[in-house]
Amino acid sequence: MKSIEEIKPLLESPKKVLITMHQKPDADAMGSSLALFHYLRQKGHEVTVISPTNFPDFLKWMPGADLVIDFESMQEKALKAMEVVDLLFCLDFNALYRTKHMAPYLEKLSSIKILIDHHLEPQPDFDYGVSDTTASSTAQLVYETIYKLGDEQYINVDIASCIYAGTVTDTGSFRFASTSSRVHRMVADLMDRGLKHEVIHQEIYDNFLENRLRFLGHSLLNRMEVFYEYNTAILAIPYSDLKRFDLQTGDTEGLVNFLLSIQGIKLAALIIDRNSEVKLSFRSKGGVDVNTFARKYFEGGGHFNAAGGRSSDSLDKTVERFIKAIEENELLLQ
Ligand code: 5GP
Ligand code: MN
Repeated sequence: MKSIEEIKPLLESPKKVLITMHQKPDADAMGSSLALFHYLRQKGHEVTVISPTNFPDFLKWMPGADLVIDFESMQEKALKAMEVVDLLFCLDFNALYRTKHMAPYLEKLSSIKILIDHHLEPQPDFDYGVSDTTASSTAQLVYETIYKLGDEQYINVDIASCIYAGTVTDTGSFRFASTSSRVHRMVADLMDRGLKHEVIHQEIYDNFLENRLRFLGHSLLNRMEVFYEYNTAILAIPYSDLKRFDLQTGDTEGLVNFLLSIQGIKLAALIIDRNSEVKLSFRSKGGVDVNTFARKYFEGGGHFNAAGGRSSDSLDKTVERFIKAIEENELLLQ
């Protein structure tokens, strides 16, 4: 893969650009994609953003979110936009299967493929890109890419807001180890460019319906199990809870982090029966490598301290398998 700076000549004449991200995009996937969208549009390119699936309501405030095509509900429009593509940008994921039903169509595209991502172990399918696991977020990498291309004058308030949203969420509000001085310097620069951070926090964190908070209380009271001998805590959510509290996309985001607030807990797992499959989210502290854990046991991956996976078994069977897996890895958790 050639380095990201080398795309500079490709951007000198107008191109048809497609930007996509992982399924069920979070604020980083959406924020980095829309930041890149606003940048490339100002440079005179024809840019389309396609999300493989729908995305949470708390991201709808992002400038440009209304232009994002949802591949699942607007497939015809999405496929039309994919007919002629010069440059394909893949943001916040590094393996095409993470785009779900879009993956076979992306594989067929003959366009130049460009990766901007911070996950471990990228697939070797990209022509150009940056894969930096030390970056706090893909949004930060978009910011740095714009600088590397010598185009920082294009970073306006819209771009700053999208980049900030991706960074604040992926760093757990600037608390994870990935929050380097680089991140703080970037945020200072974004503020100098007119960023209003307070509004963004409200949009993302104070924008839920009552039922989401009641679901949180119910889950912590009734669905949490703590395994002190393995420094592990889990939340196992049956599909009936999702229906009872009428949960929408994004409503379970952040839930897993509560488990890590228990003294001594180093591994947290949120295990949700989504009906079609069971989804797992892992978070860890210090030396507990959940990327490897997710890859080994649950067909997943991600980062060292934050990863995810899936299971085709029932919720009970998946929890059983999870407990067996942590027993096998007991030494890791000491
Ligand atoms: P989350 O738990 O927030 O869904 O995901 C945590 C991290 O793991 C994110 O960076 C996400 O991209 C990654 N991740 C989540 N699920 C999967 C999966 O099924 N496969 C892979 N490779 N990564 C995942
Ligand atoms: Mn990310």
